[in-house]
Formats: sequence, C-alpha cells, structure tokens
Amino acid sequence: MQKRISLLGGLLFSLSVYAQDGGNKVMALLRQMTLDEKIGQMTQVTLGVVSRPEDGVLDPAALTRAIQEYKVGSILNVTNHALSVDQWHHVLTQIQDEAARTRLKVPVIYGLDGIHGQTYTLDATLFPQNIGMAATRNPALAAAVAKVAAKELRASGVRWNFAPVLDCGRQPLWSRFPETYGEDVYIGKTMGAAAIRAYEEDGLRTPTAVASCMKHYLAYSASRTGKDRTPIYLPEIEMREYYLPQFRAAIKAGASTLMVNSGEINGTPVHASKYLLTDVLRKELGFQGVIVTDWEDIIRLHTRHNVAATPRAAVVMAVNAGIDMSMVPMDFSFFVLLKEAVQKGEVPMNRIDDAVRRILLLKEKLGLFDNPYPEPAAKGNFGRPEYQTLALQAAHEAMTLLKNDDGVLPLQHNNLRVLVAGPSARSISALNGCWSYTWQGKDERWYPSDSRTIFDALREKLGADKVTTTAAAGFDSPANYDTTALRNAAANADAIVLCLGENAYAESPGNTPDLALPDEQLALARTAAATGKPVVLVLTEGRPRFITGIAPLMKGILLAYWSGRKTAEAISDVLMGDYNPDGRLPYSYPRSMGEMVLYDRKPTEDIREIFNSDMTMDGYRPLYPFGWGLSYTRWDYGELQLNTDKLTAGGKLTVKLTVTNSGKMDGNHTVELYTRQHYASVTPNMRRLRAFKKIFLKAGQSQEVSFTLDSSDLAFVNAQLKTVTEPGNFDVFVGDRKAVFSYAAAPGQ
Ligand code: BGC
Repeated sequence: MQKRISLLGGLLFSLSVYAQDGGNKVMALLRQMTLDEKIGQMTQVTLGVVSRPEDGVLDPAALTRAIQEYKVGSILNVTNHALSVDQWHHVLTQIQDEAARTRLKVPVIYGLDGIHGQTYTLDATLFPQNIGMAATRNPALAAAVAKVAAKELRASGVRWNFAPVLDCGRQPLWSRFPETYGEDVYIGKTMGAAAIRAYEEDGLRTPTAVASCMKHYLAYSASRTGKDRTPIYLPEIEMREYYLPQFRAAIKAGASTLMVNSGEINGTPVHASKYLLTDVLRKELGFQGVIVTDWEDIIRLHTRHNVAATPRAAVVMAVNAGIDMSMVPMDFSFFVLLKEAVQKGEVPMNRIDDAVRRILLLKEKLGLFDNPYPEPAAKGNFGRPEYQTLALQAAHEAMTLLKNDDGVLPLQHNNLRVLVAGPSARSISALNGCWSYTWQGKDERWYPSDSRTIFDALREKLGADKVTTTAAAGFDSPANYDTTALRNAAANADAIVLCLGENAYAESPGNTPDLALPDEQLALARTAAATGKPVVLVLTEGRPRFITGIAPLMKGILLAYWSGRKTAEAISDVLMGDYNPDGRLPYSYPRSMGEMVLYDRKPTEDIREIFNSDMTMDGYRPLYPFGWGLSYTRWDYGELQLNTDKLTAGGKLTVKLTVTNSGKMDGNHTVELYTRQHYASVTPNMRRLRAFKKIFLKAGQSQEVSFTLDSSDLAFVNAQLKTVTEPGNFDVFVGDRKAVFSYAAAPGQ
C-alpha cells in the first residue's frame, strides 16, 4: 500500500507542475509557493527530530508534523548507529512519501557526512581520512575513492554528501585536523577538486553521483587555541593566501553546495558575515550553489557568539548575510522566526526567493523531482569486492615511513617472532577515526565483522604461533598499558611492533589540551626499547602527537594515520615488505609546542638568532619535514633541465629530470616541485609546493618526469590583497636538485 502511494505521488507531481525543464520548471514552482512553503525549503532538521534516536525508526506523527506543518525541505543525520542499505531505503522512502503528500510535492533533500566513505551504512567501505589521502599525493586515487563513496551513498538513497573538508590543516591541535588535506594549499586544492569532480561528474541525476559540499567556508581550521569552534584571528592577506584558494578551485571543479564555518573570524561569526558569504563567495568567487549553515549555527549567533540580541535577530542576520538553508536542526524555530522576520520586513522577499530558487535547482539537478526515492538499481553499486581492493590501495599509498634505522624494515620473515603491543594493536576504531559508522567512530559494534586489527593482520601473515600480544581489545583497556607484561613478553620475541597514537574522535570531543602522547603510552615505548629488542613504532593518529622523546629509541617508525577499512592489512604489508611505502608527510611533524613552524615558512622563521650576529638557519626544525617519507628502494634524481631560464607572462616553464629507482625493490614514488622567490614586495615563502607527480618504477628503471608551470603558479597575495606574480628570480627545487630562473612580466623587461 505504502509503495503504491509513493508511485502514485511520484507520477502526480511529475505530471503537474514540472512540465518544463530545469530553471523554468523551478521558477514556475517558485511562483506557486506560499511563504511557509518557501521557508520550509530553507529548513533542515536532523533525523532525530522525526525518529527514535536509538535506532532511526521514524515516528510517523513527528514526520508528518515536520513536513506538513513546517514544510521541511531537507533532513540530515548524525546518528550513533549505522543502518543497513535496506533500512536506509525504508527510512528515505517514508520521508519522500510524506513529501509527496504535500501540496506541491517538493521532495526532501537528504544529506550526511560521508567524509571518508559512506559513514552511516553498515559495511560501507571506509577509506583513509583526508590527511592520509593527502599523504598518497595521488589525485586519481582521491577521485576513485570519492566515486565509491558516492556510489555507496547513493545506493543507500542519499544524494547529498557533506564533503570534502577543504579547511587547511595548519593548526595540528585542531580536533578536525585528520579531516583536512594537511598544511599545504596546493595539495588541498588538487585533492579537494579531484574529490569534488568524482562526486559530481557523472551528472547528479546518475545513481553514481552525489552533490558535494565544500566545507567549512572559511578558515574553520585556523582557530587560535586549536579548540574546535573557538575564535579565529586572521588577517585577510593570510586568509586569501592559505584558506581561500581551495574554495576557488572547488567552485571551478563544480561543487554544488557549501557549508559555513561555525567559528568567528576577527570577531565576526562567519554565519553573520555578508562580506564573506555574499561579497567574496557569491560576487568574487561566483558561487551559484546552495549555502547551508553548520549545526545550530544560526541559533548560536544569539546563544553563543552574542552578536544577535534575540533569536530572530540571529535569523535575520544570517539570511541577510547570504545563507540559503539552515541546519537548524533540532527544532523548527528557524521556520517560525524567519516567517516573522519576513512579515516584519526584516528580510526581503527577494532574498528568500533567491535562496529557495537555489535549493529547488539543486533538487532538480539531482533528479529528485523525477524520482525522489532510493533507487533499487543503485543497490548493486554497494559493497562491491573491488572497493576492498581500492581501500587497500589507498591505505597502502597513505603509509608514511618516517624512520628505518639499519634497514630494520621490512622485518625479515624467517621464523621471526613478533610481539605486538600498545593500545591500537587490537583496536579497530583507532585505525578508522571519526565519521566511521557513527559520528565519533568509537563504537566498534558497528564496524564490519571482517575488520582486522594490526594484531590480526600480522598473525594472518606470519602465522599465529609467531605473533603474540600483550594488548587487549579496545584502545582504553588497562592491559594495553601494562609495562611489566610487555617487558616479560618481549623475552620471547625477536622484534616489537608497538602501536601507539589516538583512538577515534570527532569535533569538540576530540579537543586536546596537549599534543604530547599520554605518559602511559610513552612509558610503553621506553619499556619496549629497554628490552633491547628492535622496536618498530606504528602510529595510528589523526593529528601529529609528539614523539620527540621516544623517536630516538625506535628503530623504525611508520605513520599510518587513520586509513580506513584496510589500515591493519596495509600496515602489516609494509612491515613485512609486501608493500614498498611511498606516502609523504602532508604536514610538518612537529617536534614540540615551541617548534610549530610550517614548511612554507617565511625567511625570518628560518633564522634562529643565538647571540647578536650569531645565527643558524634551522628555524624550521620539525621532527620530520613536510614531504618526508622513506622507501625500501633508493630514488635518484638527475639534473634539472629547464626549457628556459627566463619565464615571461603567457609563457611556460618546463622542468624535466630523470628519476631512477636505483634500489632493489619496485615502488611508487612522488616527485615534488617547489619554488622560492628571492625577493618580493611581500616576504616570500622559503618553499611553496607547486606541482607533484607520482610514478611507478621497477627496480633499476628510470623515467623522465616533466612539470610545466606558468606565471600563475608563482603567484601570491600582495599587500593590496591581489593575487599577483611579481618579476624576479626564483629557485626551483626537486628533491636534492635545484635550478634558478627569472620571471619578467613581459619579454625583455
Ligand atoms: C559538523 C559538520 C557536519 C555537520 C552535520 C557539524 O557538527 O561541523 O562538518 O557536516 O555537523 O553532521
């Protein structure tokens, strides 16, 4: 019966209002809408408002109230449980059935955070977090991963993904650092745009695509304290140099929607900033899509930021600043207050029409007006075996080998007895991190039953009799921190694999007072080293935790990030030499709180004044620099060959070199090109990454690698806030090779 209503509903609305195509259809619909219907479209509530919180089972009366009374046009969820594909189909069918019973039958757009795969569907494929994807330096892989996420979202009936996060990870304390592509602008632009294209390029009507959502505009990651949603103080020159370009590139790549930063910049909450939302985003960047708020952020203009004296003033402020949809999301206050505000003339009707038009256009683009229901055929795109292969490839390419003294790695197979210890040795959640089947990702009940721990993966590879552990399931289990047990067990082992780092966390619950690893983890490292057995440290962590005191005690250090479903397998493959690591650090691994300099530092950050004129040039002194990553083979670079040493406006600079795998193992390798301008009107960075290329070479093979730059690749933001390339001399660096060229604005200048 229910199904019949759905089909009938669908048929009726496709026959009635939507006789014409695209924009015309939307405009015709808009003209028929009442104020309530329009404001309802701008209202997004969370699933919990219309369902039982414990299991997502819909409450029909609450759903009817939301959609019929408040005309709600969008629903999202952040649940503490995952649902099966079929359960999702059931939930979304009921929601669209309810929408089909409204006067104009406008379908609901449903969105959620598929940050590293489809978060909330049981058995969905989870990939490395963005920070791990950045380490792969492989935009094609970022695209492939995003495409699978899109397919599994869509297979679950969801057509709007709140991803990718484009915030630049320049503040490692920030609890959302793992969701970023790290500290570099160029990597953020490249990987972010690749993901967006993959989400959307098939055309949003197609069951392999979803609408993407660039977030969180702007500079959410730059809070002064590193605590989530705390004030950002950011000069505009810095904002434009490091935080805006990713959004510019994402808009070019075709992103359909954007989510706003919950924070405040220089005292103005971004949700209230007409300058950022309308002047910069709409007018300067030309963004045409939907702007959605983040969680409760309009309400918080009144309750937290204290810039709006009343809840209605908050709504007026945000809508007039340029937001189109409010993630209210726990009640209907936005609907009530916006209606009052329009009736009192505080928000002009054309602002409402502008917002609603964009929302309807998005729904139209997504094919929701033709068929808003979960597509049964799309189910075939869920959980395909090849996604596991891709998840393993992504995890492999993320693995970043930081240290390998005396070639301790790969560990030699022959009768090797390994002791696996530490809190992440038998944890699944510490390998996946945030947005993994639940928001916080901590609850292992929802993970796929075939998920492997590091301990499991090593046992499978080496044999159960060769691998022992002192660890217990669950990151926080007291047994994991038992140094006596570790010392005793080490007596029967040839090597220790010590698994330290962070358990999963997301957003504010992930705030940390310190980046130091907890003492009990450091004690494990010291105990392990004191046994005299070689210790390999495996770090599963979302952000860099200080290991400066223990790093010298470790023979090998492998940074695994939170690399998704196949993290454990990828770690064991690298440890045992079945995969040659090629990940490169997407951030400068800091040494300590007082040494938080980023790789694209300014000249004065390179200088360390000791006494009067005594100085060194080691101001950039991370534990491991940006771009660092060891391999089991040796990579040699030939001289740089430039097509010219004089680049002109409109001209091209080609930089070529021969790269040789001179070691004994085949492998992937990323070649990175950096530039440095000698003198400029604004202090030039000591390095900027301008291009990278990933190659695969068999042992003994060579390949020519070529990069092409033009003047725009050398640009920076000047004191007048314009992006310019100034004439002058430049260094170009590739590995240990360097060349010099000049740029002149016009030939002969
Ligand atoms: C996060 C967003 C997310 C939203 C919906 C917020 O708390 O900041 O990134 O998209 O919740 O889940």
